[in-house]
Amino acid sequence: MSQAKSYAALSATTPLEPFSFERRALREDDVNIDILYCGVCHSDIHTAESDWGPSNYPIVPGHEIIGKVTEVGSKVSKYKVGDIVGVGCMVDSCQHCSHCAADLEQYCDNGPVGTYGAYDLIDSTLTYGGYSDHILVREKFVLSIPETLELSKAAPLLCAGITTYSPLRHHNIKAGDKVGVLGMGGLGHMGVKFAKAFGAEVTIFTRSESKIAEAKKQGADHVIVSTDEEQMKAASMTFDYLLDTIPVQHDLNPYLGCLKVDGTHILVGLIEPMEPAVHAANLVLKRRILTGSLIGGIAETQEMLDFCAEHNIECDAEMIKIQDINQAYQRMKKGDVKYRFIIDMKSLKEEA
Ligand code: NDP
Ligand code: ZN
Repeated sequence: MSQAKSYAALSATTPLEPFSFERRALREDDVNIDILYCGVCHSDIHTAESDWGPSNYPIVPGHEIIGKVTEVGSKVSKYKVGDIVGVGCMVDSCQHCSHCAADLEQYCDNGPVGTYGAYDLIDSTLTYGGYSDHILVREKFVLSIPETLELSKAAPLLCAGITTYSPLRHHNIKAGDKVGVLGMGGLGHMGVKFAKAFGAEVTIFTRSESKIAEAKKQGADHVIVSTDEEQMKAASMTFDYLLDTIPVQHDLNPYLGCLKVDGTHILVGLIEPMEPAVHAANLVLKRRILTGSLIGGIAETQEMLDFCAEHNIECDAEMIKIQDINQAYQRMKKGDVKYRFIIDMKSLKEEA
């Protein structure tokens, strides 16, 4: 066992605070990782605050982890001490269902084990995430970080990156497709970069006029201010795909109206009941498809990391200290982040 430092939410209504706990002893297929950087995902906030139903406290959030290997178990073959590695949203899955066999561990029939707030399959202890100084993860769920990626910006790829890459790949986004990305936050800005890299014509839908100029700098071909009814009306029936990263309940109907016949609306942000309801006419009368997507499998996450290295795709991030995490959560709730906070874990290690 080893003592770990972290920041945790002890309840849904209290801010994150310093928290010490014990990590398990190294298993034969474990990789022990000294955490260098951890991205801040909106899911961290949802879980810390029990937005998706009661969470298992204490919650040590963080599933966009970059670190250095300090120790490996006797059966680990892929990694050695000193390697730079990543960990995303899952740390295990059953490994015997049809989805695990198809490299779709995120859809494991027995439920993938989340990096935080879930229960370990072997000893049933609660999993604690990346807002901590180190983590032990089964080798199969550890990713290789290509050397050419800028380490201080790579962490968000482990969740924001794969969550947008996977559905765009699954739906075979290609040159000629018109793709809209809803919400210009951590996921949204990565969605724009991937959709552009796949050759699509990309439009950002944002509520924030302040993001227009930068959205274009990021490669978006067009920007629609979603609160402007005229702009929304002008976009009627013009899109093949919409990638919806909005993290709260919102009216899907005006967005569905922007899709062509056979157009597809992909939900990744909303994991709650739809409110207000989707009017079925918006689907039936135009044969539109409403679907969703959950992160991506381990093999696809590695493919995405290698793709980013090859195509020079990186996150736009603002580095913070762990001590500023509660303020960062408040800013994210207001949509005030360009476009991902990354915690420099030195700040935790140096804390007295
Ligand atoms: P961010 O907070 O970084 O970005 C969300 C963006 O959505 C904001 O920047 C804002 O963009 C827009 N937005 C926020 N509030 C509203 C609102 N009330 N109405 C309309 N638009 C709004 O979040 P993330 O990108 O980290 O995460 C997005 C969602 O995706 C979260 O719910 C998260 O839990 C979920 N998620 C899902 C995953 C999956 O596998 N499906 C994996 C990871 C995350 P703007 O200012 O441009 O309008
Ligand atoms: Zn996430």
